[in-house]
Amino acid sequence: MTPAFVYSALPMRVRFGAGSLAGLPDEVAGLGLSRVLVLCSPEQQATGQLVADALGSRAAGVLPGARMHVPIETAQAARDSARRLGADGCVAVGGGSAVGLGKAVALTHGLPVIAVPTTYAGSEMTPIWGLTEGGVKRTGRDPRVLPVSVLYDPALTVSLPPGLSATSGINAIAHAVEGLYAPDASPIISLMAEEGVRALAAALPAVVADGTDLDARGDAQYGAWLCGAVLGATTMSLHHKLCHALGGALDLPHAQTHTVVLPHALAYNAPAAPRAVAALARALGGAGDPAHALWALAGRLGAPRSLRELGMPEAAVGRIVDLAIGSPYANPRPVTRDGVTALLRAAWAGEPPAAG
Ligand code: NAD
Repeated sequence: MTPAFVYSALPMRVRFGAGSLAGLPDEVAGLGLSRVLVLCSPEQQATGQLVADALGSRAAGVLPGARMHVPIETAQAARDSARRLGADGCVAVGGGSAVGLGKAVALTHGLPVIAVPTTYAGSEMTPIWGLTEGGVKRTGRDPRVLPVSVLYDPALTVSLPPGLSATSGINAIAHAVEGLYAPDASPIISLMAEEGVRALAAALPAVVADGTDLDARGDAQYGAWLCGAVLGATTMSLHHKLCHALGGALDLPHAQTHTVVLPHALAYNAPAAPRAVAALARALGGAGDPAHALWALAGRLGAPRSLRELGMPEAAVGRIVDLAIGSPYANPRPVTRDGVTALLRAAWAGEPPAAG
């Protein structure tokens, strides 16, 4: 039986394919924009400049100021630059940090954002913004920050190092996992989630083996697109809550933290989410427990599998548990102190996830 559901489509245009960056000037012109500010992180300044050069006179400038979790100071600097340069839109080139900076400008200035993603984080497909002030990250949903147009060019991802390719890809898979058991899941989103996990799990070993393999890069980015769309359409649960707490309280790296926690969070929720488990088992090759399959995938990719190796002190487990159980949120299985403590201890030590 198909359960009742509500599905809202998000208005957005996607251009996909190797070489599609060449279509960016048309994309900008088609939106009626004539002075866009290019945003990127300092490490990707050369890519940002490449994009600005391709845009010619339609580029108002390049601001290489994006930082993880969008510190308020960087948001303010980007807003000031946009105003000073008379920008009528932003092109955010990079990972979730660059896209997040574009969203911060859109939030206050209402400028349209065109996203050119170079990681698999998925922010480009969501109306979710984040801003960090005084060490505290606030997030919210606002239709104004949803990029109007997204250009996926796998050629821009070949420089993503193997380690970050693996963890960023598993970060994307995490969106699909939680979308499959979300309170606002819907049949079309579940199809996208299953296909996104299948595409990424199949592509990531090839991407890590040879980062210049454009076919594998394209398959991984296709999966990341689908998983990002799932993130944009559904409400996340325990896994994302835990990663948010670990990132915010301990400054652990984003994609790596997702990679370590995901098998454990899925194992915790699996008994209460049989449809999600069946979809993930299909996506991951049909056999066995999907939580264990994801843990094994991380191992095969050489990705971290313990919070200890990410620098988390064991003594911090209690604090993270407090944060994760502090306020109520939707989760398929009741979130208990004992349950989350056991989950985090296993993730900290790098043990395999609990058997389902
Ligand atoms: P990131 O954007 O910080 O990128 C990580 C590093 O990789 C940076 O140094 C960057 O310059 C570099 N990099 C990116 N692409 C590269 C490439 N192709 N080649 C070489 N280097 C490259 O990290 P991320 O994991 O993409 O994004 C994480 C941030 O995004 C977090 O702040 C997270 O909270 C946010 N996020 C938000 C949403 C949302 O919906 N709002 C969704 C996912 C992530």
